[in-house]
Amino acid sequence: MIKRAGIIPIIIALASAGGLAAQTGPGARDAAPTRTIFQGATVIDGTGSGARTGMAIVVEGETITAVVPVADLTEEVREGAAVVDASEWFAIPGLVESHTHVATMASRARAEFILNRQLYAGITTARDMAGDVRSLMDLQRASLVKEIDAPDLYFSALMAGPEFFTDPRTVSSAAGETPGQVSWMQAVTEDTDLAQAVALARGTWATGIKTYAAIDGELLAAITAEAGSQGIPVWSHTHVGPARALEVAGTGVRSMSHVCSVGSAAIPDDVFREGQEGRRTGFVDVDLNHPAVDSVFALMRRNGTVLDATIRVVVQVGLRRMAAIDTVNAPRPVEAADSARAGPPQPPIDRRRRGVRAQCETADAIALTRRAWEAGVMVATGTDGMTPPASDFPALFDEIRHLHDDVGMPMADVLRAASHHGAVALGLEDSIGTIEPGKHANIVFLREDPLAGPESLRSVELTVKRGTLYPRRNFVLGAPPGPAGR
Ligand SMILES: [Zn+2]
Repeated sequence: MIKRAGIIPIIIALASAGGLAAQTGPGARDAAPTRTIFQGATVIDGTGSGARTGMAIVVEGETITAVVPVADLTEEVREGAAVVDASEWFAIPGLVESHTHVATMASRARAEFILNRQLYAGITTARDMAGDVRSLMDLQRASLVKEIDAPDLYFSALMAGPEFFTDPRTVSSAAGETPGQVSWMQAVTEDTDLAQAVALARGTWATGIKTYAAIDGELLAAITAEAGSQGIPVWSHTHVGPARALEVAGTGVRSMSHVCSVGSAAIPDDVFREGQEGRRTGFVDVDLNHPAVDSVFALMRRNGTVLDATIRVVVQVGLRRMAAIDTVNAPRPVEAADSARAGPPQPPIDRRRRGVRAQCETADAIALTRRAWEAGVMVATGTDGMTPPASDFPALFDEIRHLHDDVGMPMADVLRAASHHGAVALGLEDSIGTIEPGKHANIVFLREDPLAGPESLRSVELTVKRGTLYPRRNFVLGAPPGPAGR
């Protein structure tokens, strides 16, 4: 059990005494002391400064109030505090999963399975990149009030051109209503009253507006400007065809998802136009060393736009399938004209598959991410999927491995990607993303040195979210939630 430290500090070795489990049982959380000292840890605080040994992290309620050498702890601070012996542990900021989908289908069990596995692996914040906001709001609340063990959940309201809303995922995410005509999935055109559309999106309690597809550069710029004036960030796909990566980067959106689509900037204009006009479809080989690609990264760096690279999704599902699911490139319907010319009736063209895309294999995704990182772009860790249900660790660990092993980022940079840069994408860098006084107490404690390599993150002992302790030993992999997500 937790004991009060009193005048003479008593260090309680909770890690070996079973005390954590006692503290974190249902109901017990409320009775925990309001001040907790995590004592003796080696702290990598995520600000970019190096590891510091023998540190104490003082937490009051949900907030970090001090990060100091143990020797500097005053009696006043020790008085009445619970002490967690962290002298064998490394502390890093809570991880941010920057691209998850937990409510595309209305399955509470699946959502809870994903979120539970994320939290106990050290993910304290998750950004959901479009789904059914009616479910997401409830999951967000359930997490905050500790009905479920889950990261803090932030979500988006989606905007796209009208033709996107035949996509089956939008149908399920707007079940009972018409996708494109609900506040969390709005069809937008040049005639849309954007002040109202952005206000409706904010009314869903979304943290960001996700722009998805079938939007031209002018419209995207207008959405971004209006969203900026109403204080909500825009999270865009890198290619929202017709607007390509260079135009998207030029608007100053807060984040851009899917690194492969940066290649859209290198598609020759005439080839791209043929795709837009419905005369050509599929993948084109482009020169990914094209200067336009560097221009995209330069703009992103200048505007502080975070790259949500999602290398993992290219590796796991392949670009072709991702494109088939994720793309709308058609600016206007031309099926009628096509079939009139063709004579015998033809099956309708799937507009979501029209348009051309830049060919991009795993090696390209890795090379592009490396160039972005070398150009000074903030790369975040988003996955756009989940690992198989039997896996003990979430998809984020795949993305982290790709960034370190394949892209070549040192672990210090990877950890910053997985914490601070994710916070920037959310607009929450003042409250999360580093271990500093004033921030939420979102901390991961590890047995092994996280700077040694990505595998060390599997040595998680304890996740702390908003001051609440979630020991790894309490983690039970839930029942498989039906068909695996992608
Ligand atoms: Zn996604």
